Amino acid sequence: MHAKKNQKIVVLATGGTIAGTAASATDHTGYTAAQLGVQQLLDAVPALNDALQGDALVCEQVVQLDSKDMDHATWQALAQRCAHWLAQPEVGGIVITHGTDTLEETAWFLQQVLETTKPVVLTCAMRPATALAPDGPQNLFDAMAVVRHPMAHGVLAVCAGRIHNARDVQKVHPYRLDAFSSGDAGSRGWVEQGNVRWADPGSWPLRHANAQQALERPVAQWPWVAVLHNHTNPDARQVHALVAAGVQGIVLAGTGNGTVHHSLLAALTQAQDQGVAVRLTTRCAEGQIVGAISALPTAPRGLNAFKARISLMLDLMG
Ligand code: ASP
Repeated sequence: MHAKKNQKIVVLATGGTIAGTAASATDHTGYTAAQLGVQQLLDAVPALNDALQGDALVCEQVVQLDSKDMDHATWQALAQRCAHWLAQPEVGGIVITHGTDTLEETAWFLQQVLETTKPVVLTCAMRPATALAPDGPQNLFDAMAVVRHPMAHGVLAVCAGRIHNARDVQKVHPYRLDAFSSGDAGSRGWVEQGNVRWADPGSWPLRHANAQQALERPVAQWPWVAVLHNHTNPDARQVHALVAAGVQGIVLAGTGNGTVHHSLLAALTQAQDQGVAVRLTTRCAEGQIVGAISALPTAPRGLNAFKARISLMLDLMG
């Protein structure tokens, strides 16, 4: 699904560590929050212009504080600014930069008082802007991808590549970059390479196009699909042996983001040339392959190797 286009995205800044500065680049704790203005935060993300694809940015410094000092008067002012902007038809959504300490409270307050289906995305940072590797610019970039996504609604929080609902989000760690959790509810989704992946994509096709074949075809005639794993020093002879024995499909659980040892990759490419259907997935227990990083076709994203085997077997029944 593509992002909405030619709309206005409003950035409301409130301070926090994302706008914090320290005297030393290695100091992650002895900094002063709420020092940089909203334009400086945006200037730290040069890639934003391209990512906006024609959308216009409007920014406002609503307040400049450490969110440990958040108060009801600021909440009211922030909610009023949100309501003002959300009422403009050309505004697609709002990104709010906020300190992490009370982000979950502001998120829930806004969720309770704003009347809109447009997205309001809070984002933040665990390291000040002056850190060796600050997390704020990436979080802001990710929040922008979420606010522009057509499936984004209501008040959300984005931190460390994860999207949380206002209802569930909580700060659970005082230091690490991935400081928020949605507890039992789990993340609403993730932002990877500027793309949003929702935990519930809404329209996963459940019944395979060749389902009827699986119900009718004698199982002895079902396609043979094997599962292999990439690992240190894999032996390409296992691929040759499978091909010689008549395998019709191979699912490879690659390492990391679907990487494959060069010897195995050569054998699998050769197998493909010989008519074997090859699909790539990852042996990592969480996440899924991001981007197109291999010459091998990927299995349906999010399926582990064993489920990818089932889907490929069904594909081959067609
Ligand atoms: N004390 C800071 C704040 O909440 C912490 C942070 O932003 O990470 O503003």
